[in-house]
Amino acid sequence: MTEQTLAIIKPDAVKKDAIGDIISRYEKAGLKPVAVRMMRMSKSVAEGFYAVHRQRPFFDSLTTFMASGPVVVLVLEGKDAVKRNRELMGATDPAKAAPGTIRAAHGTNIEFNAVHGSDSAESARVEINYFFSSMELGV
Ligand code: ADP
Ligand code: MG
Repeated sequence: MTEQTLAIIKPDAVKKDAIGDIISRYEKAGLKPVAVRMMRMSKSVAEGFYAVHRQRPFFDSLTTFMASGPVVVLVLEGKDAVKRNRELMGATDPAKAAPGTIRAAHGTNIEFNAVHGSDSAESARVEINYFFSSMELGV
């Protein structure tokens, strides 16, 4: 089924000049960027985005990291986009991510792991609407 997911190229990957490689991986995997923005999140925008993790011990560090520099936020569209993107990303901890995945190639550690991807169709809907207006989404 054709669906959409939200991806974020995190500040660590932007600093490493990996934007082009990562977007190329999406395109080659049949995940078409249909909305893209480069931006810098404030700490409170990062906290809102990761609100489901607010009880976790790494919440403050994670949201400080996400606000530490520019990111690229994308809506990707394709067949089974949520699952396909999770496969492309690899495991949360780059040390455990399968060879050939984005996190294996560009992640540094379990926190600085290069990319975000929605984990379900429902969270994709919420996350897409968190960052993009209907005008940007063409709907
Ligand atoms: P994923 O991004 O693979 O969906 P989670 O939703 O569990 O992973 O976590 C969100 C983000 O929080 C991760 O991508 C990573 O940046 C950070 N994170 C997850 N687990 C840890 C941890 N144990 N220590 C530090 N940061 C973490
Ligand atoms: Mg997650």
